[in-house]
Amino acid sequence: MRITVLGAGTMGHGITQVSAMAGHDVVLRDIDEDQLSEGLLSIKLNLETGIDRGKVTENEKEETLDRITTVTDLETAVDETEMIIEAVPEKVDLKKNVLSEAEAAVSEDVVLATNTSSLSITELASALEHPERFIGLHFFNPVHIMSLVEAVVAEQSSDQTREFAKDYVDSIDKTPVVVQDTPGFASSRLGVALGVEAIRMVEEGVASPGDIDTSMELGYNHPVGPLELTDIVGLDVRLDILEYLREELGERFKPPQLLKRKVRAGKTGQKSGEGFYVWEDGEPVAMSGDWGNQ
Ligand code: NAD
Repeated sequence: MRITVLGAGTMGHGITQVSAMAGHDVVLRDIDEDQLSEGLLSIKLNLETGIDRGKVTENEKEETLDRITTVTDLETAVDETEMIIEAVPEKVDLKKNVLSEAEAAVSEDVVLATNTSSLSITELASALEHPERFIGLHFFNPVHIMSLVEAVVAEQSSDQTREFAKDYVDSIDKTPVVVQDTPGFASSRLGVALGVEAIRMVEEGVASPGDIDTSMELGYNHPVGPLELTDIVGLDVRLDILEYLREELGERFKPPQLLKRKVRAGKTGQKSGEGFYVWEDGEPVAMSGDWGNQ
């Protein structure tokens, strides 16, 4: 199938890579030439790492790269396309404009998808002439490693669009889960619920951050505990999501004071060097604050 990806950033280049690896012809479109070059370079580097690890052959790398075209012109990008996946920045008005501009350039049977991580799919669909052809496809970062894709069904999405999207996710060897368009979809809502309870437990002195994380890693086989994950995602990012989910879903998502205090102090996690842990060279080396000596 011929696919168009709009936006060559973190997610767009990853979606392009996995689609091309699965045999689809992909046109990657960005308004910025440099982003296109960087996106293509990231794909090459990912494939080379794959070769080093024995997961990709030299031949697969060449074939994958041959299936990718990069362009800045929208008309060229959508020529003969069957599906458009939008991965531009998380701004509702920008996404509405990009989607309706793309819709105007294609025939009625082309499916449109958005990789938004938090915006309402139903609201984005309302910007389209034919909203029944629209759906959310929520990929996870890094796209070439993470096997889940949430197919987020808008109020207006047709069954045909949902099935088309699921078939596409199957075709790229990832696992689709179908979620109705609700705040936080399935993954963020549950992930954040676990994270916020872990923060409340630190606040109440139930256990140290390290022991809480270890209990989920060893007791439930989570690859990373909820507090270390909060540090990796960013405490500020999690606070924003919590405030949004509290507004939409109620008090169970009320942000804990401890989280607010840390964000106000600039302790936003891995990126700032401290959150629930102290970070050095991308690794947690100690617990933050009073827990540090335990
Ligand atoms: P990014 O900033 O890395 O990339 C966005 C790209 O879109 C940039 O290259 C920019 O030049 C380009 N762009 C801007 N306007 C455009 C236009 N009109 N047409 C085409 N390209 C345009 O962003 P990202 O992290 O890849 O995020 C993209 C989307 O994916 C967002 O909706 C985000 O919420 C979602 N998402 C991100 C992650 C993540 O971990 N980064 C995970 C899941 C979903």
